[in-house]
Amino acid sequence: MNKTEKFRNETRTWLEENCPLGARGDGQIPWGSSKINLNADSKLWLERMAERGWTVPTWPVEYGGAGLDKDLYPILIDELKRINARTPLTGRGVNYIGPTILEMGTDEQKARWLPGIARGEGGWAMGYSEPGAGSDLASLACKAELNGDHYILNGRKVWTSDAMDCDYIFVLARTNPTAPQHLGISLILVDMAQTGVEVTPVRLLSGASPFNETNFENAIAPANDVIGGVDNGWTVGKRLLQFERSTHAGINTSGSQGGRSSDSPLPGQVQQYSPVVNGQLADASLRRRLLNHQIAFTAQRLTQKRVIEETAASAPGFASSAIKLSNALITQEGDEILVAAMGTQGIGWGATGFQVHEIDATRDWLKQKSLTIAGGTKEVQLNIIAKRVLGLPD
Ligand SMILES: Cc1cc2nc3c(=O)[nH]c(=O)nc-3n(C[C@H](O)[C@H](O)[C@H](O)COP(=O)(O)OP(=O)(O)OC[C@H]3O[C@@H](n4cnc5c(N)ncnc54)[C@H](O)[C@@H]3O)c2cc1C
Repeated sequence: MNKTEKFRNETRTWLEENCPLGARGDGQIPWGSSKINLNADSKLWLERMAERGWTVPTWPVEYGGAGLDKDLYPILIDELKRINARTPLTGRGVNYIGPTILEMGTDEQKARWLPGIARGEGGWAMGYSEPGAGSDLASLACKAELNGDHYILNGRKVWTSDAMDCDYIFVLARTNPTAPQHLGISLILVDMAQTGVEVTPVRLLSGASPFNETNFENAIAPANDVIGGVDNGWTVGKRLLQFERSTHAGINTSGSQGGRSSDSPLPGQVQQYSPVVNGQLADASLRRRLLNHQIAFTAQRLTQKRVIEETAASAPGFASSAIKLSNALITQEGDEILVAAMGTQGIGWGATGFQVHEIDATRDWLKQKSLTIAGGTKEVQLNIIAKRVLGLPD
C-alpha cells in the first residue's frame, strides 16, 4: 500500500471513530470566538481535530498543524466530505491572519499566536475599511503612534464583521504619516478587550447586525505585534487579502474544509417549482439558463480542486481574485435562477404563506449580493485581473 492509500485508510477510520454524529451535516461551526458558546459536539469535534493538527492541516506541527503536503491534504478534505463532517474551525483566525503570520511573521510571533489560533482560542475581526477608505484602501487614516514598547491607535474602522463577538482585531494603521501613501502603513494585532476599543453595531434592513463600526481611542498594542515589519503593511495587508479572497473562492488551504460533497442542489430545487415534462424542465429558457449555470458550477468546482491540489499549504496570489470573482458570480446566478423559478414564492420576507426554506432562499439571494463587494468589489478584482494576471497596462 502506498503512502496516500495508507493515509486515506487511516484517516477514514479515525474520522469514523472520532467525528461525533452531531458534527456531521448542517450545524454550528466554531470560529474561535470566546463569546459564543459551543454545543457539546462542536466543542468535542474542535478539540479532537485540534489535537491531531487537523484544524490547520497544512501548518507545521510546531504551530498546531499536521504538516500535510499537497498529496495528503486533499485526501483529508475528501474524507471529511464523504461523511458530511463539518469544518471543525473556520474564520479570520485560521483563514486570514494565521496564514499571514505563518508566511510573514517572526518566529516569536508564530510561536506566540499560531498554536492558539489553531485551537480556536479567540475570534478575529478585520480592521481594514474606513469611512474614507474602501476600494482605495491606501488612503486609510487610522493612525498608530509608537510610544516606548507599544503603539497607541486612534481612528475609525467600518464594516468590521462580527467585531461584537471578537477577541482580537488585525488593523491596518498609518505608522508613518510623512511617507508616501502605500509606504507608511503597518498591520498590527490589537486585543479588543480594552477601553480604547469601542464597537458599535450597524443595523441592516433585515434587522441583523453582523457589521460594526470599531473605534480606537488611545487603544494600545504591543510594538512586537506588528506583522511583517513596520511600514510594510501594504505588502502584508495585500497578502492577507489574497488569503481572504481565496477563502471566498473556496480554495483557502489553511483550514480544513469539511461539509457536504460539492454537488449542486440547484437542479432539484428548481424542479420543485418549475414543471418537468419528459424528464426535463418545460420552460426552455429556464432550462438553458440552468444548464449554463451547471456547466459553470462544475468548471468552478474542478478549478477549485485543481488549485487546492496545486497550492496546498499556501494560497495563490493574484489568481485568488479571478477565482473569488467567478465563484461570486456563479453563486449569485444560482440564487437568481432559483428565485426566478420560485416566482412569487421567491419574494417572501417573513409573512405567512412561505415555507422556511423559501424565506431562506430569498434572504440568501439578497445576502449573496455582498459577495461582489466583500473582500474587494467586482470592479477592484477586474482591475487586479487586468493588470496583474493579464498584464494589461495601468
Ligand atoms: C459582507 C461584507 C463584509 C465586510 N467585512 C469587512 C470587514 O470585516 N472588515 C473590513 O475592513 N471591511 C469589510 N467590508 C468592507 C469591504 O471591504 C468594502 O465594502 C469594499 O472594499 C468596498 O469599499 P466601499 O464599500 O468603501 O466602496 P467604494 O470603494 O466606495 O466603492 C463604491 C463603488 O465604486 C467602485 N470603484 C471604486 N474604486 C474603483 C476603481 N478604481 N475602479 C473601478 N470601480 C471602482 C466599486 O467597485 C464600487 O462599485 C465588508 C463588506 C461586506 C459587503
